Amino acid sequence: MSSPPSIPTSIAHYIRGQVTPGTSGRQQEVFNPATGQVTGSVALANAAEVDAAVASAQAAFPAWSDTPPIRRARVMFKFLELLNQHKDELAHMITAEHGKVFTDAQGEVSRGIDIVEFACGIPQLLKGDFTDQVSTGIDNWTLRQPLGVVAGITPFNFPVMVPMWMFPVAIAAGNTFVLKPSPIDPTPSLFMAKLLKQAGLPDGVFNVVQGDKEAVDALLVHPDVKAVSFVGSTPIANTIYETGAHHGKRVQALGGAKNHMVVMPDADINQVVDALIGAGYGSAGERCMAISVAVLVGDVADKVIPKLLERTKALKVLNGTNLAAEMGPIVTPAAHARISGYIDLGVQEGAKLLADGRGFDGTQAGEGCAQGFWLGGTLFDHVTTDMRIYKEEIFGPVLACVRVPDFAKALQIINDHEFGNGVACFTRDGNVAREFSRRVQVGMVGINVPIPVPMAWHGFGGWKKSLFGDMHAYGEEGVRFYTKQKSIMQRWPESIAKGAEFVMPTAK
Ligand code: NAD
Repeated sequence: MSSPPSIPTSIAHYIRGQVTPGTSGRQQEVFNPATGQVTGSVALANAAEVDAAVASAQAAFPAWSDTPPIRRARVMFKFLELLNQHKDELAHMITAEHGKVFTDAQGEVSRGIDIVEFACGIPQLLKGDFTDQVSTGIDNWTLRQPLGVVAGITPFNFPVMVPMWMFPVAIAAGNTFVLKPSPIDPTPSLFMAKLLKQAGLPDGVFNVVQGDKEAVDALLVHPDVKAVSFVGSTPIANTIYETGAHHGKRVQALGGAKNHMVVMPDADINQVVDALIGAGYGSAGERCMAISVAVLVGDVADKVIPKLLERTKALKVLNGTNLAAEMGPIVTPAAHARISGYIDLGVQEGAKLLADGRGFDGTQAGEGCAQGFWLGGTLFDHVTTDMRIYKEEIFGPVLACVRVPDFAKALQIINDHEFGNGVACFTRDGNVAREFSRRVQVGMVGINVPIPVPMAWHGFGGWKKSLFGDMHAYGEEGVRFYTKQKSIMQRWPESIAKGAEFVMPTAK
């Protein structure tokens, strides 16, 4: 493993192609969650700084939107090459500020790179429809044009991948972009800005404003911001959607989740246990596609739970820089307190606590980790659907087992849940799998796949309270979100045809 890059102690904005120190006087500490040490401080933008970033993007828009798509794609190809070269540096930055294990961080970068590869195909994706001769001498065609300045507001849990769900597609489509990353792990945003510049992206096309609610509020009311993509928790997603729409913007706001995994009695038990351990505790459960509820059908619980408990207790909870680590720390003390509070609550509500992560001592996680934000894997059995630990998103390494008598009940509880992001069903029965995928009220479905994150060209999005708006992130829906359709109908008076041309026609 190469050595980690040094992390800047002062994390600034990026405007007009320049790293731009904050002027608001407000800042927030950035931690290494594994050690609990402060590693930097990030500037928090005020409305004037947001205005400067939007003005930078607005000034860059005319030339960038006029740049032929193939040339915009070439910048993306170069960016892709640079990302592949610097993948591990980005992964180290993620581990240092988020805490997730290094190999998982590498996976995050790879899934972001997938979207850049997709965006490289933008000339094909922007191709319009043409009808010759809709009436005598008249043609009609449709094309898609960029919106202008668009903003992305992103969560802490994927500081590279989630921004890359947005800006590669938006920029390749001809928009200019203002990213507002999470202040918890802001460093990768500046590194991505640097690579974009190196790739030949003109200054102003990609900007970063670091910040919190104040910066978000300024973006939401800014008249020059034409669209907002948001990923984060449901209450904020709801507010972003309503406020953005009220101010005339196109909004896609992806929210929280409570993802179930149904285990049918005929499922392969070893595969099930592997899937639950990885999807429940990977990234310390801080994934919007983490499995947080195992729905155990019939008598399968008695086969799954002993093995699951054994594996939960054996989880390698270590500093994410240790390549043997399976799970790293919790991102912040506030998240640690929230998750611990839910474990207390589960006990009060009468669920059976089989593995308790609250006692985990950071010294077991490696040298220097005593003051980090640590929890072990937590497993509850006999969770019922009236409990808050079932209904609410915990967003931590806490797996709840719900026992149900049959498939119909499993489907019903999932469909009754307010969230509908991801879901999985483990079975060997093709008909059960087919019925499940057709009837379940969830946006992303896995059959014997615990975390069914769609590939770059399929688009990502949940249903119900997991997505506000109607367009999913990336894929063809992403292209539609960042462009507007124009229909052109054309008639030309008859003219005298020109003579023959003998030179190879070239684009002019
Ligand atoms: P969060 O909602 O706290 O923050 C998300 C973004 O909103 C950040 O940039 C943050 O600075 C900003 N923000 C926070 N409070 C705000 C406020 N009051 N007003 C305006 N902006 C505000 O989410 P988080 O804790 O960073 O991320 C975890 C959440 O994100 C979980 O709920 C998880 O399920 C969700 N998530 C969803 C998806 C998805 O695709 N559906 C993907 C990743 C994460």
